[in-house]
Amino acid sequence: MKVLAILYRGGAAAKEEPRLLGTLENELGLRQYLESQGHEFLVSDDKEGANSFFEKHIADAEVLITTPFHPGYLTAELFKKAKNLKICITAGVGSDHIDLNAAVEHQVQVLEVSGSNVVSVAEHVMMNILLLVRNFVPAHEMIERGDWQVSDIARNAFDLEGKVIGTIGAGRIGYRVLQRLVPFNPKELVYYDYAALPEQAAKAVGARRIEDLKDFVSQCDVITVNAPLHEGTRNLINAELLSHFKKGAWLVNTARGAICDKDAVAAALKSGQLRGYAGDVWDVQPAPRDHVWRKMKNPLGGGNGMVPHYSGTTLDAQARYAAGTKQILDNYLKNKDQEPGNIIIGIGKYATKAYGQR
Ligand code: NAP
Repeated sequence: MKVLAILYRGGAAAKEEPRLLGTLENELGLRQYLESQGHEFLVSDDKEGANSFFEKHIADAEVLITTPFHPGYLTAELFKKAKNLKICITAGVGSDHIDLNAAVEHQVQVLEVSGSNVVSVAEHVMMNILLLVRNFVPAHEMIERGDWQVSDIARNAFDLEGKVIGTIGAGRIGYRVLQRLVPFNPKELVYYDYAALPEQAAKAVGARRIEDLKDFVSQCDVITVNAPLHEGTRNLINAELLSHFKKGAWLVNTARGAICDKDAVAAALKSGQLRGYAGDVWDVQPAPRDHVWRKMKNPLGGGNGMVPHYSGTTLDAQARYAAGTKQILDNYLKNKDQEPGNIIIGIGKYATKAYGQR
């Protein structure tokens, strides 16, 4: 059996730190496990274009492993070439780099390690909300420059207490964010999701559901995006929706970059319609050097908390998603049932997730 893994290059850091399991060098800790059973294991970070390692070897691989951090984009076109492919495993959470309709059509299963990094991301969301509201990044940059002008920072710094904070998507990550926000004494916690939270869960965090998206965004001081990328969320946050935001709101997106219109976000930040934007996800990864989100600023020279995609790949998370990937592979090889919560696409069909499985 041929197993193809597309992972990012870890360089010197990966040699020095073996717990960087999600790298090309450390191969999710799978080589010995696979080769001892006689399987072929190919790993590369070369994923773009017709002559890439990815496109060459997808032609006869039976298993594809990739991460959302350095995704091998498996398009409908590529599915046609992938004659031998049976299963795609996402080492992490979020399988939008795979054309899911094509996976259904070609009877290829798609699984991910659900829950493996949800705490990691929820903590990053908390950090992002705080660093925007407290105007942290320009304050630190000022210190590095050798300057000291408190008023330049304080004029755009606020308390989180007393704010209305909302999540788009109240699943595993969104709900954990709501839980972590409770001790900050917000004015109100709200959420926008297809389904209502179970009554007990909503009560535990005191969150109110708002069913209309424009109504939702117009009430929030802080919005965090925690929904998957799909046809219904691509470009969801565009110029039109941003015009319904409260003037000077903060937006945090650690879900997927393409949920936001990049130019509309940059324009809203520049005009002050948004006071801040932070996150770790980009519409293309790696993000090009001239991506507008790298340097965009609000009128007071701050409000940008962008970093590379790493919120869900802490060393703790890597241990969990590497172990989860191995378990999915093991189940596949032994023809055992997979964890229902890990199945995104079963053979020829979308999986349905009950709330209790999250
Ligand atoms: P989850 O448990 O499936 O929760 C997602 C929630 O969003 C579900 O309740 C879902 O409802 C809801 N939803 C779907 N479409 C929506 C829409 N149009 N509007 C409002 N809500 C919508 O997933 P999760 O584990 O919390 O992860 C959420 C996303 O975070 C992932 O899909 C991934 O893209 C991203 N993520 C990022 C990182 C990172 O490192 N930055 C790491 C992990 C995950 P239904 O279940 O009814 O569809």
